[in-house]
Amino acid sequence: MKTLNMKLARIPLAGSSIGAVECRMVLSALQSGRLALGPLARKLERRLARYVGVRHAVAVSSGTAGLHLAVRALGLTEGDEVITTPFSFVASSSCLLYERVRPVFVDIDPKTLNIAPTLVEAAVTPRTRAILGVDVFGLPADWPALRRIARRFGLALIEDSCEALGTSLGRLRCGAFGDVGVFAFYPNKQITTGEGGMVVTNSRGIAEACRSMANHGRRAVGMNWFEHVRLGYNYRMDELSAALGIAQLTRIRTLLARRRRIAAEYRRLLADEPGITLQADPPGAVVSWFVFVVRLAPEFSRADRDGIIKTLYSRGIECADYFRPIHLQPVFRNRFGFRRGDFPVTEAAADRTIALPFAPSLTRQDILRVAAELRRAIAVRKLGRFTRQPVGGSSV
Ligand SMILES: *Cc1c(COP(=O)(O)O)cnc(C)c1O
Repeated sequence: MKTLNMKLARIPLAGSSIGAVECRMVLSALQSGRLALGPLARKLERRLARYVGVRHAVAVSSGTAGLHLAVRALGLTEGDEVITTPFSFVASSSCLLYERVRPVFVDIDPKTLNIAPTLVEAAVTPRTRAILGVDVFGLPADWPALRRIARRFGLALIEDSCEALGTSLGRLRCGAFGDVGVFAFYPNKQITTGEGGMVVTNSRGIAEACRSMANHGRRAVGMNWFEHVRLGYNYRMDELSAALGIAQLTRIRTLLARRRRIAAEYRRLLADEPGITLQADPPGAVVSWFVFVVRLAPEFSRADRDGIIKTLYSRGIECADYFRPIHLQPVFRNRFGFRRGDFPVTEAAADRTIALPFAPSLTRQDILRVAAELRRAIAVRKLGRFTRQPVGGSSV
């Protein structure tokens, strides 16, 4: 058992920060006897709307449910096209498939890894109805540019801000730029409700449509329990989740500051590592970090990246290959006939990204260890390339 004891402690990729406030508020919700359709979800909605700077918020059971409602509230349907990014978590596009809306992917900006506005403009067709942008890894998409394009062509603008609660760009917070925005509260996000999400909008019509659809199609106001005025779902957030969310939101400054400190520490320790590039904050942005992602230099292949991740895992360091491009996911590839090479900037980035451990529980020692192990793994991989034939597939 000695060898087991000597094993280095595992450093987790992600995690939540659950403290005394969370425990107290969830217990109190539990003891209230009101577990669903109560005052806490409403309270979380009001507070989150105020925090983001929008008029309306509708609490839902997940970010994905929120995206689905956003798509439906905008009336998007079969035959419509929505321009979006292939470099994202799958849910930002599966929400379109639920309604048989066609995702029209365009490539990303190689610096921010967010959708490239000039390419969006070039992809507009008579069938285009909306632009769906994503704040990848917490970095804001170029919302002012996307909004200009949306206005010029009469398109709706959907913000998947599921990774960017608290990020601002200029005077606005992410979620407040478009016709409708969506946040997610899965345990690895900036704040958590267990499972949960929030739709935000300045439009009363969109808010009421989402509220109604999330609640079996009952009327949003003056609800009659057995009257269903539209096709609805059960996408409601329960009261225990809402209690957790309220507690987390009261601590959001602390939670975001901790994430910012971890990111700053990684940047300081890795700034001079020639094997990687770090994401730079877009001008005018204050970033609320979702994950901390480094990108290997172009000389490295996907096999190199996978090898480095494997090495880090063997050293007790959890990391991940965020994101595998959506157009190459079997469900999209098979349906639309996408191929490798369709979105080269996305693919080149996706082949070389490594998300480093970014849990709130990380200590300075953990961060030092991750940085040192990453440098070592990169150096070993580089050495291997000179001393033997490279193994595995090519990069693109
Ligand atoms: C997390 C996330 C979602 C959806 O979140 P769930 O709450 O897990 O459904 C959607 N889009 C992006 C970009 C995300 O990161």
